[in-house]
Amino acid sequence: MYIVKQVIDALYPPACPLCGKLLEKGETMCVRCRSRLQVVAEPRCMCCGRPLPDQGQEYCPDCASMHHWFDQGAGVFPYQSAVRRMVMDLKFRGKTANARLLGRWMAAYVKPEIALWRPDVLVPVPLHSRKLRKRGYNQARLLAESVGKILDIPVDAAMVRRKGSTEAQMHLGRLARQRNLEQAFAMGKNRVAEGNILLVDDIYTTGSTADAVARVLKENGAGKVYVLTACIGSDF
Ligand SMILES: [Zn+2]
Ligand SMILES: [Zn+2]
Repeated sequence: MYIVKQVIDALYPPACPLCGKLLEKGETMCVRCRSRLQVVAEPRCMCCGRPLPDQGQEYCPDCASMHHWFDQGAGVFPYQSAVRRMVMDLKFRGKTANARLLGRWMAAYVKPEIALWRPDVLVPVPLHSRKLRKRGYNQARLLAESVGKILDIPVDAAMVRRKGSTEAQMHLGRLARQRNLEQAFAMGKNRVAEGNILLVDDIYTTGSTADAVARVLKENGAGKVYVLTACIGSDF
C-alpha cells in the first residue's frame, strides 16, 4: 500500500485546492491560502446565517421580508471567497476529493449550532437523476457524508428526491424560479420525515432551493429543518 501511495503521489503530487501550488508533505492547503481563509463571522443573519454589513442588524433584507420554510441556516464561507473555486471544482470538474476538506470545515464551523439544533439526520439536497447520471455524483451528498462522518450523524440521501428538471431555472426570474422549485421535490420512496433534519448543500444564494426541500420535509412530518452550506451569498 505504501508503495502504491508513493507512486500515486509522484504521478499526482498533492496540490493546494485553492491555488494549485504543490504542497509539502502532510499539508492540505498551502500556508498562503490558509492564512487568507475567512469564514462568515458575526454579524450574521439570525435566520439564514448570511453575513450582514451592520452590527445592529438582526436579519438580512431577504429573511426580514419573507417567511422561510427552514428554521435556521449556516454557511461557512462568503460566496466571494477563494473557497468558491473549491466548490466549483467539486461541482463541475470532478474534484470529489475537495468534499473531504470542505466537509471538515463545515463540521467545525457548525459545531456550536449542532448542540442546539440536534439534528437526527443529514439530508443532502438531491440532484435530478439525469444530472446525477451525467455528473456521476451529487456534490451535496459527498459534503453531507463528510460532515456526517465527523459529527457522527447519519446521512439519508434518499429522504428527498428531485422530480422535475429545473435546468432552465437560471434564466427565470426569482418568483418563477420559486414556483418552479416548489414542484421539484418530493419525499423519497417509503420515506417518512421524522425528527430534526439538517439539509446540506454546496451554496446558499436565495434560499429558494432550501425552502422547497424544507417544505416537503415539513409537510411530511419533519420537526425542525436546518440548512448547512459550504458557501453563502451576501448579495441578492
Ligand atoms: Zn494555495
Ligand atoms: Zn437571512
